[in-house]
Amino acid sequence: MGSSEHEPVPLDAAAAEAPVLGRPDARTDSVPCNLCGADDPEVLFEAGVAQEGRVVRCRGCGLMYVSPRRRVELADYRERGEGEDAGWPLSPSSLERQRNQVRDYRHSVRAVAEAYPGGRVLEVGCCTGAVLAELKRLGMRCIGLEPNGWACRYAREEYGLEVAPMTLEEAAFPDDHFDAVLMLHVIEHLTDPMATLREIRRVLKPGGTLVVETPRYDTWSFELMGRRERNVVDDWHLYFYTTETLRRTLEKAGFRVVEKRVPSRTVVPSRLIGAVAKAFRLRFLDRMAHGLARTRVNSWLAFPLNIGDLLRYHAVAEKGGGTAKPGEREAVA
Ligand SMILES: [Zn+2]
Repeated sequence: MGSSEHEPVPLDAAAAEAPVLGRPDARTDSVPCNLCGADDPEVLFEAGVAQEGRVVRCRGCGLMYVSPRRRVELADYRERGEGEDAGWPLSPSSLERQRNQVRDYRHSVRAVAEAYPGGRVLEVGCCTGAVLAELKRLGMRCIGLEPNGWACRYAREEYGLEVAPMTLEEAAFPDDHFDAVLMLHVIEHLTDPMATLREIRRVLKPGGTLVVETPRYDTWSFELMGRRERNVVDDWHLYFYTTETLRRTLEKAGFRVVEKRVPSRTVVPSRLIGAVAKAFRLRFLDRMAHGLARTRVNSWLAFPLNIGDLLRYHAVAEKGGGTAKPGEREAVA
């Protein structure tokens, strides 16, 4: 892409050439630990107990993850966004939820805009682009990646964002390209978070910042709810981090954590009712939640809730830039 001032991502052309991710048959092989490399996990929940996958915990480092994997979820996610009438059910309520949750990221959005005025920001998995649009509004040059074609189109049409329907690896950005990278509620879905974090480090400028947020599990709610905990039951979640395992993962990928937050989440009444409907499989409540989500009063009643089950780190890419320490490559390889 060179070093010109603003290189557009080759959008549809590149997507058409992107490698086609096959859908292999259900996998039965166990997956080694993404943090320490060991293949010695204890089973926390057998398949079908908490979610459709088997949830294990590495005896070496404590990382929790799904093993074996029962599907290739990126291919699934991508397919749901194909065609003009995408099958992915991004209902009015989930669109509204994304807009409401912009305020949950206000601190990090401001921190990035203040640290790198007018700088180049990438959001990996920007979904419909509501958060990235805030950074654009603050004068940042923004690029989004969103493998789901439906969400990608929405981000372009609704916010005029430059978003490509591909993964970070497929986008193949140049080295030292971005001042900041956001990855919000994405890392728990990745098949190889360590590889993706190293790729983020590569495309970040030295001293650039990664903002990463994910559910965490060193919490009273996981202790209390166990297999019913709201994030562990999500079939799309492959990794379940704690404050410690995410910090160590970032460090191993070549980042230095500079800020830790346990952020709150903006909740609207329709979401609370929807959660109860889901937990107890009550269809009428679910319909009520969907109806409520379409009303304005739902947004007016939004409030921040913090039960401590989210984790956000700001981490700086440590990559020499003329001051490389001897042996650094080995240390982070
Ligand atoms: Zn491990």
